Amino acid sequence: MENKKELRTWLDNFGLDHPLVIAGPCSAETEEQVLTIAHQLKDSDATVLRAGIWKPRTRPGNFEGVGALGLKWMQKAKEETGLLTATEVANANHVDLALQHDIDILWIGARSTVSPFIVQEIAEALKGTDKPVLIKNPVNPDLALWLGAVERFYTADVKNLGVIHRGFSTYEKTRYRNNPEWQLPIDLQNKFPDLPLILDPSHIAGRRDIIFDLCQTGLDLNFDGLMVETHHNPDKAWSDAAQQITPSDLIQYMEDLKIRKETSAEAEFKNSINTLRTQIDVIDHQLIEVLGKRMKVSDAIGNLKKANNVAVLQSKRWNEILGKMILEGEQHKLSEEFVLRMFKAIHQESINHQEKIFKQQ
Ligand code: PEP
Ligand code: MN
Repeated sequence: MENKKELRTWLDNFGLDHPLVIAGPCSAETEEQVLTIAHQLKDSDATVLRAGIWKPRTRPGNFEGVGALGLKWMQKAKEETGLLTATEVANANHVDLALQHDIDILWIGARSTVSPFIVQEIAEALKGTDKPVLIKNPVNPDLALWLGAVERFYTADVKNLGVIHRGFSTYEKTRYRNNPEWQLPIDLQNKFPDLPLILDPSHIAGRRDIIFDLCQTGLDLNFDGLMVETHHNPDKAWSDAAQQITPSDLIQYMEDLKIRKETSAEAEFKNSINTLRTQIDVIDHQLIEVLGKRMKVSDAIGNLKKANNVAVLQSKRWNEILGKMILEGEQHKLSEEFVLRMFKAIHQESINHQEKIFKQQ
């Protein structure tokens, strides 16, 4: 697949003057719930109502969705509000049922994107469809696997495509439910600038208090749209309660978010520089995190040295590290002087940490 302007035609055809908004509950629960939420979203920026009908659960025993019955509620919501509808499909049977019920946009869940077999089955079931298909990133940070899924649809003659960034699962507990690892969607966007890129801040966050900031970062990185889990009574939602916001919160967010419009050359310049600056912010954040991790390892070494009565400073090892890093730096176009200065500073911080450990009783 190559980058082509046509990739975004379906999105351009909506003619929106703001990012695409897909909103609605994690799961369709009851007819009343779907209709209530749809009506509360009717006069918002949302173009598309989302709801999960079949819920892929990491562990059994959680709510697994209402099934095909919920598709009728979606149809009714569309009739009453004019919102388009979207749901997740995870096998050929889901596809048949969703198409029978005139669902407008289909998405592929993170747990499906990981499996080329499942993706192939869904792609074949959707062969030649005009309906937009949005492919969530796989649960693990693997750009090739994500792109592979997009290509399977493209090859099955599904040309109205988009991708959804919903973060990546990690073993370590972080402030996110799914780590955003922004560098991945940024790389994907650099490769396919015309492939619509949508942010799902809800599944990245796992909690509602950081959804607004995630939306802003996404828009600053030039994402084309947002998919936000929205519920009239979030705390009582049958799935993903902690991360859902109300339709009125969403309406307020859309008013408060800084949305860039490319109009004049000056605006375009500002837009580009802002995108690049946000990329720098993301990388700086990673730098600090990685340095923090390095110091933790260094602390562990400090504790070992103390227990075994070994001196803090070991010049031989240090010179070896430095030599290797200078060579590696060259490959990344970093000057020897810079690598030296940076590693001296890191090493000094490391020594300070270990000396502190030695001084502790
Ligand atoms: C969802 O959108 O409700 C969902 C299950 O998402 P994901 O596939 O990203 O976990
Ligand atoms: Mn969910």
